[in-house]
Amino acid sequence: MIEDKNQQRTPLSKLGEFALIDHLTKNFKLKHKSTIKGIGDDAAVLEHKTKQIVVTTDLLIEGVHFDLSYMPLKHLGYKAVIVNLSDVYAMNAEATQITVSIAVSNRFSLEALEELYAGIETAANVYNIDVIGGDTTSSTSGLLISVTAIGKANKEDVVYRNAAKPSDLLVVTGDLGAAYLGLQVLEREKEVFKVNPNNQPDLDQYSYIIERQLKPEARKDIIKLLKDLEVKPTAMIDISDGLSSEIMHLCKQSKVGCDLYENKIPLDPQVISTCEEFKMDSTTIALNGGEDYELLMTISQEDYPKIKANPNLTVIGYMTDESSGMHLITRADTKIPITAQGWNSLED
Ligand code: ADP
Ligand code: MG
Repeated sequence: MIEDKNQQRTPLSKLGEFALIDHLTKNFKLKHKSTIKGIGDDAAVLEHKTKQIVVTTDLLIEGVHFDLSYMPLKHLGYKAVIVNLSDVYAMNAEATQITVSIAVSNRFSLEALEELYAGIETAANVYNIDVIGGDTTSSTSGLLISVTAIGKANKEDVVYRNAAKPSDLLVVTGDLGAAYLGLQVLEREKEVFKVNPNNQPDLDQYSYIIERQLKPEARKDIIKLLKDLEVKPTAMIDISDGLSSEIMHLCKQSKVGCDLYENKIPLDPQVISTCEEFKMDSTTIALNGGEDYELLMTISQEDYPKIKANPNLTVIGYMTDESSGMHLITRADTKIPITAQGWNSLED
């Protein structure tokens, strides 16, 4: 177990709740003028003046959303922040503050929680976020971590899911499918390790896809890029559950259809080679694998000249009338309906 790797193992009972909170949060420094009061009172106080405020929350549960046998706690802390920031950026907003709530069993030591908080602190620094509060409680078995993120945007800049128009371009950032494949490699290595604990796997050829699973990033850079390009998407969503399910959200909420071109879906070479090795279809992985945390947006045709040369943005299709439905145009030029097999934590 990762948390046992630490030489020192201070039981949480030695500190008590308040000393623990103090210990874990003492390094956090406030970076935003809008944070009037952070940790230490009954509630945090924020002042955002003329902006609109966006709020989003995610709950991660051990055994459901993460497996500590291959997810180092530091990475888990980082990822728990990232998945929330991604939702803020998907509104075309700037993320400014987070709260972090945890439930821990006595299986976890102080050193283990220090690791978790080191990841949280790193993400907060990289993304310029204030940690302004949270809650700490005990759990009878596993670890739960819930992060709430707060962000701000000018009213006219906020982008919703429900305003895509027929003939808009469908655009995605980065590449798809890598995080899911990284998970497959880690699951496989876990099984190998169970059989032979001395086996030291060589994971070099999987470095990108494993990093995408263990250390995802949120596309803060894209929010700035869109501003610089003077492009406001007509609709936007982050890709947490897989491309097909996110496309369906955009289409249903915007009451439009969509043609998605298989040959345009951006894939990293490591995704292609690993799919070959695992005998998986890379399109299926890109459509249904989750946790890429890229942004999927629709852009008016007029804005095409502004985005066409940009390596961060790939046009993968366009929106149609609702009555046309949602389709994948395959490499063989056949048209098949898009269905949501997206990763759904309620199903497993
Ligand atoms: P209360 O009893 O009012 O819920 P707590 O004693 O739980 O207050 O928390 C004290 C302060 O520490 C509050 O500002 C709270 O937001 C913050 N806090 C509690 N737990 C955490 C945590 N896990 N991470 C960050 N801040 C926390
Ligand atoms: Mg509390």
